[in-house]
Amino acid sequence: MEEKDLYAALGVDRKASADEIRKAYRKLARKHHPDVNPGNQDAENRFKEISEAHEILGDPDKRKLYDEFGMAGAQSGFDAEQARAARDAYAWRATGSEPRGGFGGYENFEDIFGDIFSGRGSHGARSRTGVRAAGEDLETELEIDLLDAVRGLATEIGIDRREVCATCTGSGLDLSSAPICSQCGGQGRVRVGEGPVAFMRTCPRCGGQGREGTKPCPTCSGAGQTSRRERLSVKIPPGVDTGSRVRVSGKGGAGIGNGAPGDLFIRVVVRPHRLIERRGDDLHLDLPVTVVEAVSGASIDVPTPDGAKVRVRVPPRTQSGKQLRVRGHGMPRLKGDGRGDLYLRVVVHIPEDGGEEVERAAAEMSAGYKSDPRSSMRF
Ligand SMILES: [Zn+2]
Ligand SMILES: [Zn+2]
Repeated sequence: MEEKDLYAALGVDRKASADEIRKAYRKLARKHHPDVNPGNQDAENRFKEISEAHEILGDPDKRKLYDEFGMAGAQSGFDAEQARAARDAYAWRATGSEPRGGFGGYENFEDIFGDIFSGRGSHGARSRTGVRAAGEDLETELEIDLLDAVRGLATEIGIDRREVCATCTGSGLDLSSAPICSQCGGQGRVRVGEGPVAFMRTCPRCGGQGREGTKPCPTCSGAGQTSRRERLSVKIPPGVDTGSRVRVSGKGGAGIGNGAPGDLFIRVVVRPHRLIERRGDDLHLDLPVTVVEAVSGASIDVPTPDGAKVRVRVPPRTQSGKQLRVRGHGMPRLKGDGRGDLYLRVVVHIPEDGGEEVERAAAEMSAGYKSDPRSSMRF
């Protein structure tokens, strides 16, 4: 449909009052009336133009629809509710965002209509270049344990996938129940004008749909899309951290036309662990040792967060708080090879039991201190 600026035709502002529109129309109509300009084709065309502009802008309801949808909205039989639903559904599908104003990159409403009603070849609707748009990307959150982040995780997640409605193929309309348009015979376009100036325009009765009185699709209630709960097997690679996004290719929203489906992004949240602390690619862990191990030194077996077991040498006279590094048993690097390190912080455990014997042994150990252990505490 040819888009026209009706306000410009009357020479008024878009915010003009009803009174200003009426006055502008009267003034121009007097000037260009065919009776005043017999045989003047330019004047006749101009008169038609201002008459059409007044017919629409002079009617508050039609003016509102024209402001919102352009010329398509001013046609008789235009279903604004359905058009808004279709437009929003389109903007939603095309951009992956919530419905919002505007035409989602389309120049006018008719372009959207054309796309929505394309692909109905059997009803003789105009065949347009099929619209193609990649499906929207979806995002979901997954909370995992730190140990799963260290080792990687294969799990199942549930997502709501929106798909083009199979019943209406995305038009949002129930075409089966609607009779073929009596004005255009289902073509969606009608011939207007006579002889050499004849041209085709969108059928005003059906708005180009080729059908009359269409109702919203019973399956999707007019949204053009349906939602389906789906369980997906996903693999979380070792090394992820809170904020990591894991992409599952092709598992986002359905594409439009032949457009590729979008991707699913899993936003990972790693729960803190009660014993292990992560610092970058390194892991930190307390290592409890006995007084004897700390004093005399020992080789001890230590389980590591990656599920392995390492033998760690505790040197003689190891104080509480000393860090022992175990190379390559930290976090796997998400980008790049290898792993960070595991740091074991020695914590000397005294015997919980043992009575006087233990106390005697401890007293004997006092001889071994070279200086006051608190001598460095000066503030
Ligand atoms: Zn549907
Ligand atoms: Zn029609």
